[in-house]
Amino acid sequence: MMKALFLLLLGTAISHAELRVVTNFEGGNAEVVSLDQAAGRLRIMPALHEGRGWPCWWSLRLEGVGAGQEITLEVQAQTKPFRPDTVLNASWCQPDFASVSHDGKTWRHTAKAERTAEKVAIYKIQAEGTSLWLAWGPPFVPADAEKLLAEVQAKLGDEAERFELAKTRDGRPVNGIRIGKADAPRQVWVNARQHAWESGGAWVGRGLLEWIASDEAKTLRSQCCIHFIPIMDVDNVTLGAGGKEALPQDHNRDWSAAPHYPEVAAAQRRLTEIQQKNGLDVFMDLHNPGAGDRVPFFFGPFGFERMSGLRQKNYQRWIELASAHITGPLKVDPKYRFANYVKTDEERGRMSSGWARAHGGEGTISVTLETAWNTPHSTVEGYLTVGAQLGRTLAEYLRE
Ligand SMILES: [Zn+2]
Repeated sequence: MMKALFLLLLGTAISHAELRVVTNFEGGNAEVVSLDQAAGRLRIMPALHEGRGWPCWWSLRLEGVGAGQEITLEVQAQTKPFRPDTVLNASWCQPDFASVSHDGKTWRHTAKAERTAEKVAIYKIQAEGTSLWLAWGPPFVPADAEKLLAEVQAKLGDEAERFELAKTRDGRPVNGIRIGKADAPRQVWVNARQHAWESGGAWVGRGLLEWIASDEAKTLRSQCCIHFIPIMDVDNVTLGAGGKEALPQDHNRDWSAAPHYPEVAAAQRRLTEIQQKNGLDVFMDLHNPGAGDRVPFFFGPFGFERMSGLRQKNYQRWIELASAHITGPLKVDPKYRFANYVKTDEERGRMSSGWARAHGGEGTISVTLETAWNTPHSTVEGYLTVGAQLGRTLAEYLRE
């Protein structure tokens, strides 16, 4: 009798459950193409935010799932052009492994996607509760940045100072933290998420910051000052927009004499002051590359092969130390790559790395780390490990 009642209740619950796609949270993004309730099959594409860059990032919560239910998520490219006559290639929104969470906090990889001839990536996921979080990669949104900065500030006390870099064009705070004494002889600037969709870059940043706040980095903190911005393009990260190739230009093409974004202008002011007062040692920008890039790599300075003197020595030393420390599971390419796809000197000068080179000193190095996102190790753990290894690279580099 009890069993019959239980089955009756269960039957009622199942018949009433309705799958529902929710995206009204920080970083949420999905345009539903189709939803087959009976089959538990959802087709999405990244929603286009006009003028806010590539439609490649997606992140959603599926409500009304049943524990043990198999969900099929199909991801296709956005069909509308993101700029005149250009539709974004499907590869940008289709990682081999998508990210899944059953509690909205801990993220792991799905099984490997199956791919169809129609350029659809299919992910199969078994639900564990009534909600399921699915995303292009592990999300890292302003709330995560806030939590990280608060934790590091609490841990380090007087050794750290939080600051608001700027308010975005939409009025949101862009927050950062300074670790070490402001007038320390060695000065480092690190920022992530100039391209909003590249969440892996922010996880590498978190790994780096947590390492810098650890006991292992005591000496580094006593001799250096590290300025760290976990998310530059706060507006697009919040909206779940891609950011890359936003209009009039994205953050990493905005480092001109008259920036469009207040956070870029504020970073320039602070960096100029750092260079004038103490000299800037390292500028670092954290990104994620293309789907086919299976190892992390650094973009080095244009004309590296023609460099000489202290500048050449410093860049060479950096890449050698990085390859000695960033050893896996996401092992860094031991040679610099160069962003040769950026054709003109004018555009190169508007990239943050180029700006930092032009406004730094003879000994300044400015590097961009592109951490591979399309590998089995491109997980929270994998990214945090790269971040800690990057910290060790930095500490050894600055020891001299
Ligand atoms: Zn990027």
